[in-house]
Amino acid sequence: MRESTDVLVVGAGPAGSTAAMYAAEKGVSVTLIERRGEIGSPVRCGELVPSDEEIRGMFPSVEGIEGLFDMPRSLRVREIEGIGLNDPRGRRSLIDFTGYVTDRDRFDSHLASKAEEAGAELVTGCMFKRAAGGIAQTSAGEIAYKVLIGADGPWSRVAGSLGLPKNRSPYPAVTAQAEGDFDPYVEMFFGGIAPGAYGWIIPKDGRANVGVGFSPKFASGPVGGYFDAFAERHGFKLATKVSGKHVPSEGMASRVASEDGMIVGDAAGQVIPVNGGGIPLALIGGRACGEIAADRVLRGRPLSDYQAECERIFRKPLDVAAGNKRLADALAFRSDFSTALCMRLLGARRMGRMIRCGRLFP
Ligand SMILES: Cc1cc2nc3c(=O)[nH]c(=O)nc-3n(C[C@H](O)[C@H](O)[C@H](O)COP(=O)(O)OP(=O)(O)OC[C@H]3O[C@@H](n4cnc5c(N)ncnc54)[C@H](O)[C@@H]3O)c2cc1C
Repeated sequence: MRESTDVLVVGAGPAGSTAAMYAAEKGVSVTLIERRGEIGSPVRCGELVPSDEEIRGMFPSVEGIEGLFDMPRSLRVREIEGIGLNDPRGRRSLIDFTGYVTDRDRFDSHLASKAEEAGAELVTGCMFKRAAGGIAQTSAGEIAYKVLIGADGPWSRVAGSLGLPKNRSPYPAVTAQAEGDFDPYVEMFFGGIAPGAYGWIIPKDGRANVGVGFSPKFASGPVGGYFDAFAERHGFKLATKVSGKHVPSEGMASRVASEDGMIVGDAAGQVIPVNGGGIPLALIGGRACGEIAADRVLRGRPLSDYQAECERIFRKPLDVAAGNKRLADALAFRSDFSTALCMRLLGARRMGRMIRCGRLFP
């Protein structure tokens, strides 16, 4: 690892690799450090990526979506044609939704390679510990930086070092791959099987990504127990180990930029509170903070521009989604009965709006 760099990015998930690539493309030196030895592995994600149209609908202020989400065809493992919403009584409503399912390990590796091709130095097996006064301490030694980017996931250490807020109550979620043939619909299961969140079946090629997330305040045991019950109910034949992580659940942090650093992706709470989707936001936020970091090094651009850009793109949709989530917590997620009743009253059209960060009652 270099002894000094213009931009130090911590975490080679989608947010960090995207930030590193856009910063390096502008010609500044970039070091991207990742604590895992192998990028993207093990997979801890449902692997669903919404289509450009869906992303544009959710975040209408984003520009240049086509270039940002232009992935090789080989990373589109399965096209999705809709989402089945299953209530605790077994009633299913189908809503239109387009997107594709990827292999997250290959997806993340692809993004990290693009960052390297743009000129970023990638250091794997390197853990960020803390930073102060333009020097970061890592497991591979010290490195001096001009701008620090925290793309280090829901429990961001960088946020702490920069004096920025951390996620308060992320939800645990676990996932595995199940063998079998599945229809081209994402299935979401609500109720006691996944209290305060949902279980999912996301079809892939000859298998599916299956998983469960929950809200700790509604649950009465570890997430692994809920996953086992979900797997048993559906008779899944698992092809991989169950692996988990936490998902930010409250919307974007109030502050995402300090004097010499920024946080992005899960580290900044850039996740849709009603469904836990964060891949598109990681790419959108990653591009913004990568470009602004380089501009800061090259011509002194203030990092407060990143705060302004995040407010412009994310604040309203994520606040609406967080409000809908609080409403669901208060009214729907109390019991299977109330979940089924609320889903029935809302109907498929309003549920579809909810999933897309839209207002329930215009
Ligand atoms: C079970 C589950 C299912 C999900 N399903 C979906 C889905 O289907 N679609 C979707 O859009 N979103 C989904 N999400 C959310 C999505 O995975 C995240 O929003 C997305 O990964 C955020 O990207 P990121 O780069 O911000 O963070 P991450 O992908 O978490 O990357 C952070 C990286 O930082 C590294 N790191 C952490 N700390 C340090 C450190 N101290 N030093 C060095 N490196 C460090 C980590 O190893 C990791 O590689 C799911 C999440 C979970 C948990």
